[in-house]
Amino acid sequence: MKRLRWIIGILLLVTVSTIAVFGLMQRPAASAMAAQKTDTESTRTDTTASSDDSLSPSAAGVAASANTASPAPSSTPVPTTVPTPTATPTPTPVPKESAVMTGTQNGGIDWYGGYADPRTISPEIIADPEDVTVLVNKYFTLPDDYVPELVLADSSKNQSIRPEADDAWDLMRAACETDTGYTLYLCSGYRTLEEQAALFSTSISKQGVEHAISRNAYPGRSEHNLGLALDISTTAVGSISYSFGDTKAGMWVSTHAYQYGFILRYPQDKSDITGYVYEPWHYRYVGIDLAATLYASGQTLEEYYGKMQVLPDEG
Ligand SMILES: [Zn+2]
Repeated sequence: MKRLRWIIGILLLVTVSTIAVFGLMQRPAASAMAAQKTDTESTRTDTTASSDDSLSPSAAGVAASANTASPAPSSTPVPTTVPTPTATPTPTPVPKESAVMTGTQNGGIDWYGGYADPRTISPEIIADPEDVTVLVNKYFTLPDDYVPELVLADSSKNQSIRPEADDAWDLMRAACETDTGYTLYLCSGYRTLEEQAALFSTSISKQGVEHAISRNAYPGRSEHNLGLALDISTTAVGSISYSFGDTKAGMWVSTHAYQYGFILRYPQDKSDITGYVYEPWHYRYVGIDLAATLYASGQTLEEYYGKMQVLPDEG
């Protein structure tokens, strides 16, 4: 009898301590879950804060649901595990291009006269549109909700561009005027996605697919949506012109633009690489360092990043 009571006593003790330990383990796990849920919702609210309702109704729905999310729980999460100290991490240098883009689609694309139809391309989303050196083309698109900071440009058709580009525009225009006597004029700067969409669809319906896709970008994949593209003319002409490259002002710009951070984005003999015809008026702000590098090497942005357009196999 005495031995039986001793065994029952031990069993009771074990049961009570098991319940106590189990109860302690449950509480922090539940708090951690609640904390994680709150983090996810606040992130969602941030990424859709400036989304364009008319263009992405699904994103707007997410934003609305995020707004009605329940408030953060008041209980303080209890850390469940103590992190094991490890050796000091060595930062791995990430090359710029892989941070921005990971590949170029090859195959499944419709081609018209050597130009890819952007509607048949699945573009990658650009990670950091604020970086003035990013590649935007048929294969790399801006996030749906991207709207840059803009300023109204002087000597323009009421056009806005990003402040970095505007500072450079003022300097380049002044220098060109001093050297050539011609005043540069900005015909087209920043465009909204709606403006680009209208331009693209109008071009297709009026000029045909081949003409449109070799000259007009799909919405989100235009440097004009990025706020760093400038379609340049002179005040004397006042509109974009294929002859701009042969004028005194146009030749001055093609020679000196890099000194102010601009590059001629679609050169004459690079259509296979860029996917667009020669546009003597279209300049892109990339910053002085990269512009000087590209001017010296004669490379396009695609070549610089190793992301040349991949043409379909011939024959
Ligand atoms: Zn342009």
